[in-house]
Amino acid sequence: MRRRATAILILTTAFLIFGAGEERERAQAAQPKASPPAIAGFHDAAQEEKWEKLFLAIPDPKQAEEHLRILTSAPHMAGTPEDKKTADYVAQQFQQDGLQTEIVAYKVWMNYPREISVDVVAPEGVHMHGPTREHVSDDRFQDDPRVVTPFTEYSPSGDVEAEVVYANYARPEDFNKLKEMGVDVRGKIVIARYGQNFRGVKAYIAQEHGAAGLIIYSDPIDDGYFKGEAYPQGPWRPATGVQRGSIGYMFEFAGDPTTPGVASVAALPESERIPPEKSAALPRIPTTPLSYQDSEPILAHLAGKVSPRDWQGALPFTYHLGPGPVRVRMHLQQDYQYRTIWDVIGTIPGSQQPAQWVVAGNHRDAWVYGAVDPNSGTSALLEAARGLGELLHAGWKPKRTIVLGSWDGEEQGLIGSTEWAEQHASDLAKAAAYLNVDVAVSGENFGASAVPSLKQFIRDVARAVPSPKGGTVYDAWRKAPEKRMGPTQEPSSAALSGSQNRPPAAEGSGPQVGDLGSGSDYTAFLQHLGVPSVDIGSSGPYGVYHSTFDDFEYFRKFTDPTFAYEQEMARVYGLEMLRLAGADVLPFDYAQYGKEIETYLKAAQAKAQTRFGQDALDFAPAFAAAARLQAAGTAIHKVQKNAQPREAELNQVLLGAERAFLLPRGLPNRPWYRHAIYAPGVYTGYAAVVIPGVNEALDAGDRQRARQELMELTSSVNLAAKMLQNFR
Ligand SMILES: [Zn+2]
Repeated sequence: MRRRATAILILTTAFLIFGAGEERERAQAAQPKASPPAIAGFHDAAQEEKWEKLFLAIPDPKQAEEHLRILTSAPHMAGTPEDKKTADYVAQQFQQDGLQTEIVAYKVWMNYPREISVDVVAPEGVHMHGPTREHVSDDRFQDDPRVVTPFTEYSPSGDVEAEVVYANYARPEDFNKLKEMGVDVRGKIVIARYGQNFRGVKAYIAQEHGAAGLIIYSDPIDDGYFKGEAYPQGPWRPATGVQRGSIGYMFEFAGDPTTPGVASVAALPESERIPPEKSAALPRIPTTPLSYQDSEPILAHLAGKVSPRDWQGALPFTYHLGPGPVRVRMHLQQDYQYRTIWDVIGTIPGSQQPAQWVVAGNHRDAWVYGAVDPNSGTSALLEAARGLGELLHAGWKPKRTIVLGSWDGEEQGLIGSTEWAEQHASDLAKAAAYLNVDVAVSGENFGASAVPSLKQFIRDVARAVPSPKGGTVYDAWRKAPEKRMGPTQEPSSAALSGSQNRPPAAEGSGPQVGDLGSGSDYTAFLQHLGVPSVDIGSSGPYGVYHSTFDDFEYFRKFTDPTFAYEQEMARVYGLEMLRLAGADVLPFDYAQYGKEIETYLKAAQAKAQTRFGQDALDFAPAFAAAARLQAAGTAIHKVQKNAQPREAELNQVLLGAERAFLLPRGLPNRPWYRHAIYAPGVYTGYAAVVIPGVNEALDAGDRQRARQELMELTSSVNLAAKMLQNFR
C-alpha cells in the first residue's frame, strides 16, 4: 500500500525554511570541523564511524537487482503459494546473513475475487463489459494467468443494478456538494475517482450516504496521460491499468478484521474472533475498481447537471453528475475464507540491552508483481541485512536486539505487521523503535516521516549516506524535497505524509519530515503500541500503483535503471538500525515533540474559537503541558549528550516518554488507536490527524467531547514531561 495525501501546506513553507537552513549550513561549513564528527548518542564516535563505513560499503546495486528480479518473478498476493515462495527466499537470505530466522504464520480473514463484472445495461446502444484485462502493447509479464482480476479487498459480494452518479473523489465535501446541487445518491451506484483519500474512506462515506454500490476508477488526470507518457512509453497509467486495493475500514482498527487487539495465530479458536458480519472494519456496500478505459463509456453518457469545474478529469468530454441515464450492473462474487499468511522474522540478539528491540519492517506481499510496491523495499531490506551480516562477521555486536520483519498481508489491511505486533505487545512495550520501509524506490526524491523525537535523527542519518546525485542524501533532500506530482497524485513513497490540522512551522531548519498517518506497517507499532517510528522512501513519477504493470520491466525502465537508489535506500535503512541499536544513549529529541504539540494546539485552539467562540474551551493547561514537555526535553537533551553513570535508566525514561502518549481508553469510538498525538484520519485514511481526539471532536462540533479529549491529551503530555523531569 502506501499512499499519502495532501502536503500542500508543508511544502509551501518548506521553501522559506530552506533559505534559512542553507545560510546556517554555510556558516557552519566555514568553521573548522571537529574530528571525528559527533554521532548523536555515541560516546565513541570514532568506533561507530568505522562500523558505519564498513556497513556502507556492502549494499550493492547488482545484488539489489537480483533480489528484486527473484521476488517479482511471479504474482505473489498474500496467502498464495507464490507468496510463500517469497517468504522462503527472504528466510534463506536472513539465514545466510547469520540472523536467527523463523517464518511465522497467521490465519486471517481475507477474500479473493471469484467473479467480478461490471456491465452497462442502459441506455440503449452503450456497451461496456468490464473489467477489461490489463494490457499494453509490450510487457512480458502482463499475460501470466496468475495475475488476479482487479477487485477490492473486503468488498462484500453483491449484485446491484442502478443508475450512476459521479461523485468526484467521494470526500465528505463532494457528497455535500452533490446534495447542494440536488443530486440524491441513495440507492445509486456511485462512480468516484481515486485520489485525495484512502479508498476505504470513499466506501465508508458512500455507505454513510446510502449508495447502493461504488466504482472507483483511475482518472488520467490523476495518474495517467495527463501527467505524461503512459506505460510502456512512460511511467504513467495506461488505459487498462487498474488500481486494486483494500477498502477495509482501517481507521477503525488495523489487521485481521476479525481479531482487533488479538493475534490471529493458527490456534485461535473461532469463538474468540468477531464474526465477520459484525466487524467494524468491514464495509457494507459492493465496491470495485475500474480502469479509465472501462469507465469512459459510463462517464461519457451521464446526463444531469454539468459537474463543478474542479471535478472535471482528463477524459475528452464534459463530466456530468447523473443520475443516469446510464445504469450499471455490478456483479461481485468474493471468495471469503480464513487464509494463511507468512511473516519472516530475522533476529540479531542485543549484547547489552536485549529487551530493547529495534524492529525494522517492510511488507513483502503485492497485489501482482509489486516491483515498486513493496519489493523495492524488500530488496533494500535484504541488502541492509547483508550489511549487518558482514558486520557480525567482523565482530560487531549491536547493544540492542535488531528484529527484521518481512510482513505479509499488508495490502489487505496491514495484517502481518499488526498480528505480529499484537502477539508481541508486551515485548514491544520496551522496544526502542520501529523503522518502516514500504515503497523504498519509486524515483529519486528522498523523503521521510517520523515522530518528532526522531526527526533530527533521520536527518542525521541522511547526512551520513552518499546520494547518487553527488553529495549526501541530506544535500539532495534539501535541494529537491519530495514533492507532490500534481493536485491529486499520491506517489507511493514514505515521505511527507500530509496531515490535517497541522500547521507547518514547528520544525525549524532542514528538510521537512512528515507526520505518520496510516497506509503502511508502522500503524500497529506507533498508534496502537507507542513505539517511536520512522518511515522512509524515495519517490518519483509512478502511475502503475497496484496494477499488473508494476513489474520488474517497468522498474528497470522507469524507476531505478541502475539500482543506485536501491543501494541508497539500503544504506539509509541499515544505518538507522545501526545507530538505534548501537547508541549508548537513545537520540530522542523531546523538546521537538513539545514544540510540535504546541503548534498543533494553536491550530486546534483557532478552530475551537471559530466554532464555539472565544473562551468556549480552556486550552491553557494543554499549552502549559506542551511547554513543560519542551522544557523537560531541552533539559534531558543536555544529559543525553554527556556520558554518565545511569545510562540504562536514562534510556528507559526516554523510551517510556513516548508510551505516555498512549491514551488509557484509546480514541473515542476506535479504542484500538491509542496514540494521543497521531492517528489516521477517519475521513482521510492516509493523512495523519494530529491530536486526533481533540481535532475530531472539534470537526464533529462536539464541544463536550472536545473538552474531555483536551483533558486526556493534557494529562498524557504532562505524564511524558514528568517522566523526563523525574530523571535527575
Ligand atoms: Zn506497499
